[in-house]
Amino acid sequence: MRGAELVLDARAARGEGPLWDARDQRLIWVDIDTSTVHRYDPLTGCDQWQDVGQPVGAVALRADAGLVAAVRDGFAFIKPSHMTLVAPVEIEEMGNRMNDGKVDPAGRFWAGTMASDLKPGAGTLYRLDRNLRVHAMLRGVSISNGLDWSLDGRTMYYIDSATGGLDAFDYEPEDGALSRRRRIVEIHERDGVPDGMALDAEGFIWFALWGGGCVRRYTPSGSLAAVVELPVSQVTSCAFGGPELTDLYVTSARAGLSAEQLAREPAAGGLFRFKGQVAGRAPNRFLG
Ligand code: ZN
Repeated sequence: MRGAELVLDARAARGEGPLWDARDQRLIWVDIDTSTVHRYDPLTGCDQWQDVGQPVGAVALRADAGLVAAVRDGFAFIKPSHMTLVAPVEIEEMGNRMNDGKVDPAGRFWAGTMASDLKPGAGTLYRLDRNLRVHAMLRGVSISNGLDWSLDGRTMYYIDSATGGLDAFDYEPEDGALSRRRRIVEIHERDGVPDGMALDAEGFIWFALWGGGCVRRYTPSGSLAAVVELPVSQVTSCAFGGPELTDLYVTSARAGLSAEQLAREPAAGGLFRFKGQVAGRAPNRFLG
């Protein structure tokens, strides 16, 4: 399959969390390490950013305006002028921070943590309910990463990067409970580490391969269906956007690459777009 084009030479340390905002037709994304939330306008090529004051793993749209965010110390609301921590988590866990997150079909925001030194099992996947109460849904996570829900809303897909694969859970839409964890896709070490994820309108699963230089598409049962190649190795996440939701936006990271590697992949940290045939789904909004 044809590759993706560089649309923004962002040189992000750790570009992540792409999210399409249909209201103003912009692609929101974060650079975790520089504590910034970005808004990219595909029409003008302009990228505006906001410093939120602490590392930010993911953001999601709220019902009215503004964003809910998974920041280092927990869950926060972001407005154009400032950030407010609304539900702290793990502040006592020195060195842990929030990573990837997404809103479920019922309007709850999920995000998980990881240890900055990658200590195994130090993280937790949390659920922020509409009443702003936090529930620990999965403990012993190492690098909490991509997540998304099936078309019928009854399966949650989840990536703990350190486990080298993609898992599925039965998901109870009513109360947000998880059960029956099982492995759907196993990734060989030489192919990279699974990272951020997005489902398309056919229910197929797309996820980024950190260290693997690509995004892969899988059937709901876990068969490889397509590969989108990137000119960078540290591919972090993907999301559908554009007027018809058929543009797959892909984020990447520059952090940790040697001068030699950067010479080979000068676009590392850039934002990419793959114009495909398949449409994605509009992101859910946080209803709290
Ligand atoms: Zn990630």
